[in-house]
Amino acid sequence: MEEQDKTLFAMDTWFSLTAYGENAGSALDAAEREVRRLESLFSVTDPDSELYALNHSGGLAVAVSGDMAQLLAFSLEMAEETDGRFDPTIYPLLTAWGFTTQEYRVPGQSEIDQLLTLTGYALIEQTEKNVEIPEGTQLDFGAVAKGYTGDRLAALMKEEYGISSALLNLGGNVQAIGRRPDGTPWRIGIRDPYGEDMLGVLEVEDAAVITSGGYERFFTGEEGKTYWHIIDPATGHPADSGLISVTVTGKEGAMCDALSTALFVMGVDGAADYWRTHSGFDMILVTEQDELYVTEGIAEQFDVASPQFSIKILNR
Ligand code: AMP
Ligand code: MG
Repeated sequence: MEEQDKTLFAMDTWFSLTAYGENAGSALDAAEREVRRLESLFSVTDPDSELYALNHSGGLAVAVSGDMAQLLAFSLEMAEETDGRFDPTIYPLLTAWGFTTQEYRVPGQSEIDQLLTLTGYALIEQTEKNVEIPEGTQLDFGAVAKGYTGDRLAALMKEEYGISSALLNLGGNVQAIGRRPDGTPWRIGIRDPYGEDMLGVLEVEDAAVITSGGYERFFTGEEGKTYWHIIDPATGHPADSGLISVTVTGKEGAMCDALSTALFVMGVDGAADYWRTHSGFDMILVTEQDELYVTEGIAEQFDVASPQFSIKILNR
């Protein structure tokens, strides 16, 4: 089968898209246009984006596009469902820690306490067409946008171009369409959070594989403590749950993405409880103690490559 590849820089990372079949080239061109379109809506930094306008609306109700309404409604639902561990309003905190500018710093507690009053998904009012957010509160879809984009690209490529085999790598977050052209499952490498090597390989078909890792963006403070870009919305500090990496796999990329972030904040016990009470996904957790937890639904599809990890299977 004909293979086509495309690499592009979008959403602050490199996308590498591979598709098979006679329409592969035009499907990838359409995918690129869709990425650019979604980016122009959801970029938190681009002053021309729809999100930017919403974040600078001075506390007034704003009419939003269908895409914005959909991603926001989904985000608020996930915030509710995860008890606020996933929260699309932590942006002011992210800025205070310097993650938005790379001018890293450890804010004082009084500054954090003040910013916590501006955060919290319950502050967002969404009606059928309008969204109202208080002045100073800011939305950020950094934890869901790539998963959502993966879903949209997969739907577009399948439904409009008849693609039945493709691998969409959105900066390490993967959306697999169908199987490999030879009919075998896709083999997705999961990064070892402590190095450049592979933690293991997961076999999937028609699924998203999304990882949140402390190693992706972090800085080291004066006392040698590591601070990373996943914020615990309850404390305003980087999540300190004992987890270093969370991989979530399932059919729905947006959900996997929101969960990879939320479960990272919850820690092993919270994540295991959440998994037992919710369906539609499986997960791989790595702790700071080199423990590796894999849910039973993917235990047979996951091959560990790093011998240093002791693997435990989570059962329902
Ligand atoms: P991910 O790599 O999917 O875990 O997304 C991390 C990004 O999501 C960060 O760079 C922030 O933009 C944003 N973020 C950080 N912590 C949270 C949180 N608790 N809930 C929602 N978004 C978050
Ligand atoms: Mg995420």
